[in-house]
Amino acid sequence: MLFNYPQNQAFLCRLPHDGDVLEEINKICTDHGITAGMLSVIGAVRKARLGFYHQDRKEYEILDFDEPLEIVSCAGNISLKDGKPFAHLHVALSDARGALIGGHLMPGTVIFAAEACIQKFQGTAPARGFDPTTGLPLWQSSC
Ligand code: ZN
Repeated sequence: MLFNYPQNQAFLCRLPHDGDVLEEINKICTDHGITAGMLSVIGAVRKARLGFYHQDRKEYEILDFDEPLEIVSCAGNISLKDGKPFAHLHVALSDARGALIGGHLMPGTVIFAAEACIQKFQGTAPARGFDPTTGLPLWQSSC
């Protein structure tokens, strides 16, 4: 289900049950030519996979949470990576006691129910490339 607001360059979308959050967002962006923008997602996941980037080792540690969690906040941006739309999302999740966990959203986070709001930007999309200082795929020019 997707509502399109062409005058606002915005999309409201219910993400499919059992879908992968990142996969579904990237698919919407590809299908609708969204190469630059910002987004938020709220809802709940059946399980989550987050990343914590160890700056000294320049590598992500994967954190798996195999339990139902609320999406308290999920925010990010859309740009190009390897010539394709790429969503970069960070998320705060709460458990049955209301305790928060959070981090860099990884593939493997499975939707229970989720609503996304995507704002499409016009103009040239930033492109990601390897940054040797951080070891991360960052936008190629900084502000
Ligand atoms: Zn990140």
